[in-house]
Amino acid sequence: MYKSVIIGTGPAGYTAAIYLARANLNPLIIEGLQPGGQLTTTTEIENFPGFPEGIMGPELMDNMRKQAERFGAEFKSGFVSEVDFSQRPFKLKIDGQPEIEAESVIISTGASARYLGIPNEQEYVGRGVSTCATCDGFFFRGKKIIVVGGGDSAMEEANFLTRFASEVVLVHRRDDLRASKIMQDRARSNPKITFALNRTPVEVLPKEMGIQGLKVLNNETGQEEVIEADGLFVAIGHTPNTSFLGGQINTDAHGYIVVNPGTTETNIPGVFACGDVQDSKYRQAITAAGSGCMAAMDSEKFLEGSAIQDWSGILDQ
Ligand code: NAP
Repeated sequence: MYKSVIIGTGPAGYTAAIYLARANLNPLIIEGLQPGGQLTTTTEIENFPGFPEGIMGPELMDNMRKQAERFGAEFKSGFVSEVDFSQRPFKLKIDGQPEIEAESVIISTGASARYLGIPNEQEYVGRGVSTCATCDGFFFRGKKIIVVGGGDSAMEEANFLTRFASEVVLVHRRDDLRASKIMQDRARSNPKITFALNRTPVEVLPKEMGIQGLKVLNNETGQEEVIEADGLFVAIGHTPNTSFLGGQINTDAHGYIVVNPGTTETNIPGVFACGDVQDSKYRQAITAAGSGCMAAMDSEKFLEGSAIQDWSGILDQ
């Protein structure tokens, strides 16, 4: 049985691991399908404090992993397929294999950006296609950019990208935007943003070093059109990675874990959540790392208390 098991290895999970390992709690970290998380698919990170020249995403995550390892964190590759938080110690199944038991659990499984699923999209991620304006907008200074989506994220990304882009075309599959009125108004009043509504993305058009634009279907005319651009930002929402929880942890209407304000506590004492899986607003590496630190400190406090109270029977056995 482990005192603390951390599920997920983005900046939140690694930071929690560093803190718990330094507190001699020997955490077990279950690495998941994409060890290192979303940052392993980005290129250069220029806004993580402490790296004045920037650092590559995979290198930053590798450094965090080594730092956790140095203090005694244990790593296990695999995917948590099932949890049982109805009894203590908690039980976790990895890839359907025999259970691991844990006194406390930190969920840091992140959120996955949704993609369009059209040809050439995945092949050109990091080479013209992105799902993060804050991360990659800077690389498109003076360029033309397409943003796909009709929700608040798309409006926000489009507005943000006008800081760098010469022009932003917002492509949405319907006539009506889903975004709140205030966000729509902001985008509509931005002189750099034009709207291509009623257009369904069909295919990313590549060129030798990047992308040439996006092929769309004009739903009014039934004709295909090409919108030329140097960058394509897909902003059609994120999916927090919570399906393995089987509904045992409270989530909001969009599936994000609900934590008690100002803490990382979930509805189950001893289960904590940090990083993007509980944050639909900031979604930054540095905010994820910060909440990972909070989760470690919250679980350390929980373990101190539970060793004296709830766990006395079990620890005596
Ligand atoms: P969202 O509201 O679910 O909007 C997703 C958009 O992407 C929709 O317009 C949808 O089109 C479109 N879409 C989905 N799948 C598509 C596909 N396969 N092809 C083309 N288009 C597709 O997601 P979101 O904008 O990320 O917002 C999520 C939540 O976060 C919302 O509650 C939002 O208010 C909130 N948020 C708030 C702020 C803020 O207040 N600053 C900023 C960002 C997000 P349809 O409309 O046709 O379904």
